[in-house]
Amino acid sequence: MQTRLAFPSDLPPVRERLREVFGPQKPGQRLDPVSELIKAMLSVRTYDEVTWSAFVRLRAAYPDWKALACAEPWQIAPMIDPVTFSEQKARQLPTLIRVILIQAGEMSLDFLGEMPADEAMAWLTRLPGVGVKVAAATLNFSTLAGRALVVDTHTHRVARRLGLTARNGDAREAQASLSAMVPADWSSEDLFELHWLMKPHGQSICTHFDPACDLCALRDACPRVGVAQDQERSVTPFTPTRVPR
Ligand code: SF4
Repeated sequence: MQTRLAFPSDLPPVRERLREVFGPQKPGQRLDPVSELIKAMLSVRTYDEVTWSAFVRLRAAYPDWKALACAEPWQIAPMIDPVTFSEQKARQLPTLIRVILIQAGEMSLDFLGEMPADEAMAWLTRLPGVGVKVAAATLNFSTLAGRALVVDTHTHRVARRLGLTARNGDAREAQASLSAMVPADWSSEDLFELHWLMKPHGQSICTHFDPACDLCALRDACPRVGVAQDQERSVTPFTPTRVPR
């Protein structure tokens, strides 16, 4: 049986402890939803600073995103390089823009703000090449300020090691199970902060190789303290029940 986090509740104390380490995290300037969607597409498996540079170059070349619908992949790829999978993303972006224009009838995703977050997530993940992480980023980071939790590889790894998600679950399962734990009174900004606390924790302490468990603010509640890379290959069944509160 999966060991669960031994806090009185799961996500609030994780957030509190990581906030003591990394400080409060607040949203800065928000992009419009289409821009955030494009930036989130570029960010897949790519460092944030590389993503931002590519996004700025692309935006300068296409100040009206609608023009991207007619762009050729060979025109886009050099602009967004060196993001990971730049040629694939260069093929995906014009298609994505064309589908938005057809489905939404305009170059705007502002209408998603009128939908419940789960419906908006479902709409976005039906777009070509858009997974749950990109969809959640589009909702939560943009001017929509939607109530969606962004689960990237770092937050997923931390959550998995803490026993908050299945050890063999995929990104969709992780996003669903973590979202189900979010307290009902948490706002979009609370979800934003949780992501931007768990992510640097995963990048700096709970790293893929050789996590620094000795320095971890969560070690007393972590069932995987001392985990090594080779142990990650051992998978146990996940029982989706909650710790009694
Ligand atoms: S104790 Fe180790 S494995 Fe657990 S969350 Fe902290 S760094 Fe990650």
